[in-house]
Amino acid sequence: MTLFDRLSRGCQLTVAFILMVCVPALADSDSDQGLEDKARAIHEQVLTLDTHIDIPANYATHEIDPGSETALQVDLPKMLEGGLDSGFFIVFVGQGPLTDEGYADAYDKAIAKFDAIDRQSLLYGHVIGLAKTPSDVDALAASGRLVAMIGLENGYSLGADIEHMLEFYDRGARYMSLTHMGNTQFGDSAGGPRGSPEPLHGGLSSLGHIFIAKMNYLGIMVDVSHAAKTTTMQAIKASKAPVIASHSALRKFRDIPRNISRKEMKAIARTGGVVQVVAFDAYLKENPAEKNAAIAEIYERMSLNSREAMYAATPDQWAELRRRIRALDETWPRANVAEFVDQIDYAVKVMGIDHVGIASDFGGGGGIDGWDGAHETFNVTLELVQRGYDQAEIAKIWGGNLLRVWRDVERVAAQLQADVTK
Ligand SMILES: [Zn+2]
Repeated sequence: MTLFDRLSRGCQLTVAFILMVCVPALADSDSDQGLEDKARAIHEQVLTLDTHIDIPANYATHEIDPGSETALQVDLPKMLEGGLDSGFFIVFVGQGPLTDEGYADAYDKAIAKFDAIDRQSLLYGHVIGLAKTPSDVDALAASGRLVAMIGLENGYSLGADIEHMLEFYDRGARYMSLTHMGNTQFGDSAGGPRGSPEPLHGGLSSLGHIFIAKMNYLGIMVDVSHAAKTTTMQAIKASKAPVIASHSALRKFRDIPRNISRKEMKAIARTGGVVQVVAFDAYLKENPAEKNAAIAEIYERMSLNSREAMYAATPDQWAELRRRIRALDETWPRANVAEFVDQIDYAVKVMGIDHVGIASDFGGGGGIDGWDGAHETFNVTLELVQRGYDQAEIAKIWGGNLLRVWRDVERVAAQLQADVTK
């Protein structure tokens, strides 16, 4: 079966699914039907943009073909089926030692992810194109294609070499997070499920300052998701361009260092930036202790209870891990779309409609009840419509804000480059 057949079959299935299943299931009254029709029209009209889609290194090989239906939460048929128009595909590298060997290894792993994203564009360029500017996004979307962009998760893979940043920029990286779950050469991390690491720099390091200046100069968005609050506040101060949180939930709902506080939200908004609220169950709400114990037991049984083992896990192991954890949801329900949109509502209340966006973290632990893959993307729009957001507001939340920030970051870069040549 050709990709075209596969993809067009996906579309037919979507239409059949909408007509046969979704409409009768969701519409128990005329007003529900009207709301759903309205949401469908809006979902068609606006550009939906997800700022965080993780991929395995063997993405777009014979092992994982994004043009077919895969076990992943995002592949091209799922994007078409759910109307997810665009997304930042992530060059993620896990944290290792801050040594030359560690940097060299991380660099190789990052290159493997860039290669994977390139393979997707090469194989399926008629379906999805790589955007390096907001104007590219507009042009690709206007041509009816899906849009891929690239975000770098964990600047660790740059090592201490500013030349690597130039290379990553050339390959399309347009946002970069300063840390992941460990402290990096650039700054202190908020940490992970096992708590926060001891601060190494007291926030942003001197190298972090230098690299932020270079990001501003090139036009790479500074991303503070996963950073310690100290790092976030210092990065906001250091950056001459708007700052983003590419995938973060809010402390108001779950008080863990990984989540964004009200103070950080306000500071990000003041830069003109955006907080992309993430559909990640464990960040959105606290699990009961019994569920956490059951999850820990699953990790133990699958020998995935160390960071090294997690990073070395195969896609099949990830899929099995997800399946087992999902089975626990029957006893202890995970966050749903309404709870996710509660956080969007709160973010809008605190920062205003111009500073809020959406991220899934699919492939990296994201997924909630009702938005557990690109194919279910419409459910988010439906919930936004049910909350009373109009089309212009939904367009902002679903990508318009992020694209505005990106344009502003490009403008600052152009100005800084012009200043140098004066
Ligand atoms: Zn992440």
